[in-house]
Amino acid sequence: MHFPSSLNSKLPNVGTTIFTVMSALAKEHNAINLSQGFPDFNPYPVLVEEVEKAMKGNFNQYAPMAGYLPLRERIAEKAEALYGTNVDADLEITITAGGTPAIFTAILSVIREDDEVILFAPAYDSYAPAVELTGGKAIFYDLESPDYKVDWQKVKRLINQRTKMIIINTPHNPSGTTLKSVDMAELEKLTKGSDIIIISDEVYEHIVFDEAKHESVLSYPKLAERSFVIGSFGKTYHTTGWKVGYCIAPKNLMNEFRKVHQFNVFSVNSIAQVAFAEILKRKELYLELNSFYQQKRDYFRRAIQSSRFNLMKCEGTYFQLVSYSKISDERDLEFAKRMTREKGVAAIPVSVFYRHNVDNSVIRFCFAKEEDTLKRAAEKISLM
Ligand code: GLN
Repeated sequence: MHFPSSLNSKLPNVGTTIFTVMSALAKEHNAINLSQGFPDFNPYPVLVEEVEKAMKGNFNQYAPMAGYLPLRERIAEKAEALYGTNVDADLEITITAGGTPAIFTAILSVIREDDEVILFAPAYDSYAPAVELTGGKAIFYDLESPDYKVDWQKVKRLINQRTKMIIINTPHNPSGTTLKSVDMAELEKLTKGSDIIIISDEVYEHIVFDEAKHESVLSYPKLAERSFVIGSFGKTYHTTGWKVGYCIAPKNLMNEFRKVHQFNVFSVNSIAQVAFAEILKRKELYLELNSFYQQKRDYFRRAIQSSRFNLMKCEGTYFQLVSYSKISDERDLEFAKRMTREKGVAAIPVSVFYRHNVDNSVIRFCFAKEEDTLKRAAEKISLM
């Protein structure tokens, strides 16, 4: 079939997301998939039991538009306990169909034509298209490999009258870096007295390594009052396919957010929400995630240490960046595809997260996998 008239694409430069492309290629070549970020192990049995209970209970119809209230209450309690913030569960939290829709809704609800939104590249690939669909402009600040550190003086130079939003992401996907309290202080200085809204993508909040603390904007009242904070249950409970996340924002921002959410998603899978509300009571499950993933990080790093890949620092997330510049001078997309076809291991090329495809010969591996998977993958790529 073909649409009979000429179609003027709203996103002419957007193709299929790299996560779908690489996962499909991995499948086609029967490769170990370390590309798209998702665990290859099952969620906690107690969580599955809660799902079954909810299904057999009376929870099979629409959840409230903003989300199952006990779940929002547990999220508010957690925000208070971990970040010292007082969040109103009724008016300042909305349950979303994952982190990506939460980001999309936040952008759609406040960005207008010609508004500028500052992003840090390598930037998660949904940010810029969401901005551009509103008629806004994505302004890329390119973080430099291998440190991917933010120079706030340079960010300052990107700010002008049209700057409406800054999107931060900590721990950062794909670089694995984290923002520190000094970064938060700089961001606070930079936005003081302005109308700039922040999206703080914190979906990897419980995957921070080496005893470091996750710096949430929620811990900084001056930032929290201008922020949409994004959370994800998929990352924390090994359930990326359930697609449940949330957004926390001050009442007036959340009010705008819900105007969009109600006509897009309306409400999210009720069963999963009831189960997450129960499981959030078990604090140890999210508190032990740091060390759970740190072991995997260390295992994977050790396994490829003697290869010709150069490992970059990994302070958080379940992603490890490596440079392959000693192995090949191919472009990263070509290298990642060839590695999938010939070595049977798929990874994500990092250049796709830059506006102008800045290519530093760096690829991203996901280590949210069983040790055996990581071992087999390491054996295959160590021969490169
Ligand atoms: N967040 C995941 C990643 O970075 C992918 C999510 C998706 O495929 N949309 O790999």
